[in-house]
Amino acid sequence: MARIGLGRLHLFMPASPKVLDRVTILGMPVDRVRMDDAVSAIRGFAQADGFHLVLTADSSMIVAAQEDPEVARLFEEASLITPDSAGVLWAAKRAGRALPEKVSGVELVAHLCADSAKSGLRLYFLGAAEGVAEEAAQNLRAKHPGCQIVGTHHGYFRKDQDEEIARLVGEAKPDVLFVAMGIPRQEKFIMATKHLHQAKVAMGVGGSFDVYSGRVKRAPKVFQRLSLEWLWRLASNPKKISKVAALPRFVLMVLRSK
Ligand code: UDP
Repeated sequence: MARIGLGRLHLFMPASPKVLDRVTILGMPVDRVRMDDAVSAIRGFAQADGFHLVLTADSSMIVAAQEDPEVARLFEEASLITPDSAGVLWAAKRAGRALPEKVSGVELVAHLCADSAKSGLRLYFLGAAEGVAEEAAQNLRAKHPGCQIVGTHHGYFRKDQDEEIARLVGEAKPDVLFVAMGIPRQEKFIMATKHLHQAKVAMGVGGSFDVYSGRVKRAPKVFQRLSLEWLWRLASNPKKISKVAALPRFVLMVLRSK
């Protein structure tokens, strides 16, 4: 299982000077990409042979990778790993390897919908409560007319139903599969069933469908600008405490590392 990195990205984006290289944070690689680079890489993966996992790495995923070898392996298997939190940007800057910008899962969903309206890329939304993925799809189709969202399904099914759901996804023949079931359940589903869902590219996108369905509001711009989106989310949903608790642990681990 070779780590596919810079070389692969260059293959898909020969003209992009913006793709620099990867930084390593607590032993985990993160690509130095901007949003536009990530979208063109994903379009390239969808046209290429084989399967490509995209990770949007936030502090909690990097902490989880320290403790769960299955999560650490995802970093080895991913074709593209984008920086998805202010904590990750801070850690890279501290190491003298500043990343150009945050490329979050929630923003990637919207950018790929916009791309799909032009390129015809076939997208599938799997995850969140009953009806939420479909509402998100309707709102995004209205915002990006022509966007090809070829199927939706909720994310509340048992693990022993994974194969059945993945087959259902496969029938829609998506190029890109978004799975919104929380880290790391979504990534584990993607990898365990890739022979059945048959998407060319797949990525976990956490609470994105809740946001695009309009059921959960994103943090006000001022919170986003101050990198305090996590604080807003915690105040709106105290159940997020375990995820937010990973942040001080991440900071401590980074400060202790060389
Ligand atoms: N979810 C799901 N199935 C489950 C558990 C959760 O589809 O068994 C959905 C949940 O409704 C929400 C998303 O997964 O839409 C998780 O969002 P969260 O913001 O917690 O993701 P993370 O913070 O892990 O990125």
